[in-house]
Parts: sequence; C-alpha cells; structure tokens
Amino acid sequence: MLSVSSLYRSIQTELGAWYDAYHRPLPWRQAVSAYHVLLSEVILQQTRVEQGMGYYHRFIEAFPSVEDLAQASEDEVLLLWQGLGYYSRGRNLRRAAQIIVSDYGGELPRTPEELSRLPGVGPYTRGAILSFAYDLPYPTVDGNVYRVLSRLFALSDPIDTPAGQRVYWALAEALLDRQHPSRHNQGLIELGALVCLPRRPRCGECPVGDYCEARRQGVQEQLPIKQGRTRVLPRYMNYFLVRIEGEGGTRCLIRRRQGRDIWHGLYEYPLIESGEEPLSVEVLSETKDFAQLIACLRSPRFHPVPLATHAHRLSHRQIYASLFLIECAGLTSTPDYQVIAEEEQSSYAFPVLIQRLLDKIR
Ligand code: SF4
Repeated sequence: MLSVSSLYRSIQTELGAWYDAYHRPLPWRQAVSAYHVLLSEVILQQTRVEQGMGYYHRFIEAFPSVEDLAQASEDEVLLLWQGLGYYSRGRNLRRAAQIIVSDYGGELPRTPEELSRLPGVGPYTRGAILSFAYDLPYPTVDGNVYRVLSRLFALSDPIDTPAGQRVYWALAEALLDRQHPSRHNQGLIELGALVCLPRRPRCGECPVGDYCEARRQGVQEQLPIKQGRTRVLPRYMNYFLVRIEGEGGTRCLIRRRQGRDIWHGLYEYPLIESGEEPLSVEVLSETKDFAQLIACLRSPRFHPVPLATHAHRLSHRQIYASLFLIECAGLTSTPDYQVIAEEEQSSYAFPVLIQRLLDKIR
C-alpha cells in the first residue's frame, strides 16, 4: 500500500502527463496573461466553455488590454455580456479592471490578499490567476475539482456547505504539485470536464483510475454529495411593449433597471410584477402601476392577450413572463422611461428573457 505522500506524487505525475497529452487548446491557454485568465475565468463562471468561447473572443477584441476594459462604459460591457446571465459578473469585471489600472499600474497583483480586493474575484478565480497565469503554488477548486476530489478519495463531505468546502480546499492544497501548479490545477479541472463526468464517468480512460477510491468501491456516480437543494420560487413578470406611432416611425418605452435586483443596469420595457402569484389580466389592468402607465399615453389601446409568454429559470427563481402590447398615438406627459426608436433597441442590453419574448413574436 502506498504512503499518502507517494500516493499524492503518483497522482501528480499521472495527471500532469495526461494533461500535457490531452488538454484542449483553449484560447486563454495559448496566450496566457493574467488579464486573459481573469477574463476567461469570470466569463466561464456558471457558463459552459462552448458558450463562453464566443464571449471571450468578443471581449478580447473589444477590450484587448485591461486599460481598455477599465475605460469602457458600463453599458458597453453589459451589451457585450448580453445573454451570459449573472450580469453582476460583467459589472464587477469592469470595476476590477479599474482598480487594477488605478492601484496596480495595469498589472494584476500576485498575492491572494491583493486579488481579494478585486470585485468578483472569489477564491476560485484568485487561485486560477495565481496558478494559471503566474504558476504560483496555490490550489483552486471549481465544480470539476470538487467532483474529481470527492471521487478520487471517496469523500462524503457535502460540496455545498462551508465545512465541506474547507475539506476539499485543504485536500487540494495537500495534493498540489508545487513544481507545476498551473499544469496540475488545470489538469484536475480538465479531468473533470473530459473524463470524470457528472454522469457516466469514463473511468476506463482515467489517468488516475488506479488510485481512485470511488472506482474501487463502485460509488462514482453517487459522488459528490450535496446537502440541500435550493427552493425555487416563482416570480411573475408582466412586460408592456408600448408602441408609439408617429411621423418619425414607431417608438417604444424602455428603462434601465435600478437597485440590487437581478439584471440591474440592463434595460427593459415597462414592467408590473405580481410577486409569487399570477394575476389575471382584469386584475392587472386595475392596478395602480398600470393606471399610471396608461395615464402617460395618448389614446392608448391595450391588447389583453399577451403577444408572447416565456418561462425562464434562474438558480433561485422560476420566472413566468408575459409581453403585452399597448398601442398609442403619443405621450401626454413624460413617463419614467426613455423613448427610443424601435429599431434602436439592439443598441441596448436587455435580459435574455426579453430577447426570448421578442424572438417569439418575430
Ligand atoms: S476513476 Fe472514474 S471516478 Fe475516479 S477520478 Fe477517474 S473518472 Fe473519476
């Protein structure tokens, strides 16, 4: 039987050789700068590589350097981010770039403490920047690494509790190949992405299969353990496409979302929410918000049958959205909205939910 240190060394060696031979040549692995790593890791949080790739290329093209990103407006960043979801990541990325330029002369810092100051840079991204970009001996643990470690060592500690996560981070630190931290960390992630799949892991092709305790016990598919499922609450959102006909063409009303709610900073049509319960059209059209909207319009014509409906799942919410049409001849007062030409809408970043509603009526 191998001692723990021999076991760790064997895993490091096999994993490193496998990574060298089989890793995917992803663009951010070709031209490794800390800025590229920051950009790719923030984009790839909660996003599949295939989906994130196009966004990564568009960001690099629009903002080739951290200075370019720091100088961009929030609207420019959110427009590029459109469709990726979790928009606070885009806003934080821009704010992080501004701090990197103002406080660190445009170079990403090389210590965990300094990186922790950057908005949106959590433990995973911090470890990724330090190890991938600077090859410094820091571990990093993402969903792939949780899965690989829980199986390799047959750990039943839940991966979604702080206590469980501490166990995995400590193990990742102990297992780290300090001579090749970049290759090692990326190897664990790549193994989880290509071989140690959530369902039906390819144990026959696994470079560390001989050392895998879950494989030995035949419990691969039961790991990792999650303690609790998040309760998903419904949320009903009723949007109004207000079409204003006039000599200059059709215009519509939009506004920028404020506050700390989802999609903050993105644009939307007038919205009436009915909380966690659906509202009938009759009740909806008798609400104070609806009356206020109608009062701003000249000769409004409300169409009570929605143009489109769409169900949209977020991590904690199941959103049920409806898009209603109101046609009018003009405005009687300035509403709390921007008035824009309908064809200008593509210059504004809307949540993907609204795009889906529009797709359905096109
Ligand atoms: S042997 Fe199977 S379960 Fe174990 S690490 Fe490899 S792919 Fe994952």
